Amino acid sequence: DLAGKTAVITGSNSGIGLGIAEELAKLKINVVINSFTDTDEDHELAKKISDETGAQAKYIKADMSKGDECRALVEKAVEAFGKVDILVNNAGIQHVEAIGTFPPEKWDAIIAINLSSSFHTAAAAVPLMRENGWGRVVNIASAHGLTASPFKSAYVAAKHGVVGLSKVIALETAEDPITCNAICPGYVLTPLVEAQIPDTMKEYGMDRETVIREVLLARQPSKEFATTEQLGGTVAFLCSDAAAQITGTTISVDGGWTAL
Ligand code: NAD
Repeated sequence: DLAGKTAVITGSNSGIGLGIAEELAKLKINVVINSFTDTDEDHELAKKISDETGAQAKYIKADMSKGDECRALVEKAVEAFGKVDILVNNAGIQHVEAIGTFPPEKWDAIIAINLSSSFHTAAAAVPLMRENGWGRVVNIASAHGLTASPFKSAYVAAKHGVVGLSKVIALETAEDPITCNAICPGYVLTPLVEAQIPDTMKEYGMDRETVIREVLLARQPSKEFATTEQLGGTVAFLCSDAAAQITGTTISVDGGWTAL
């Protein structure tokens, strides 16, 4: 029974992170929603989740590109809810460009947000989980944590790093009632993916439906997007007792991508 646990989900005012927060809140898990902004909409999002599920939800601003803010997010979650039981490292950005012209500042930002943030939040949260005698760290990697595509150097490097980091955290917590795993989604139709569609339409001279089927889902044999609800459900499973011996591994939610 996960009711009354506290989950921190980084990068969760949109897309997969928001879907995970909603699914966990349905299980009466208190959720901390996060992004780098601090708008009325951000706080209303938390209120809406709370109203709809009866779980407590709080929005806490923290920029995941900055190590000290990553650590402060965990501290503020403890101030709000007394503990952090579940850490979901989800914040992530993308940039698609050939390596020769790939902007170094984009490389740095992607490594910071998609990889280093998970190190900082886990560094703050794992000792607390150990003290409390229970914990789950779930890192949202990607099919690109296991395979590569051209023009995604920083993203693929960061996501492979997330898979490696997850294994190390799992080994360091192996004798504690704590697990750490990485989820590797294929394509999910979120704002991050939506943003890649117009350029791809132009580049290939294709309409939207053709881009989705022939380009985005070219490597996803199911020819369907995974959904944010399914990813929330996968996180919930990894938090359950059934998953207590699942640690240091990856779960693909990719419609068969990595079977190809
Ligand atoms: P999204 O753009 O909808 O969400 C990204 C979230 O991260 C947003 O809430 C955004 O506010 C937040 N964020 C960005 N920069 C931040 C920062 N500096 N500090 C704090 N928060 C920040 O994208 P998404 O598709 O939901 O992606 C979520 C995660 O899932 C990412 O790690 C992404 O790499 C991964 N993923 C996505 C897909 C997909 O197809 N959408 C596939 C595999 C993996």
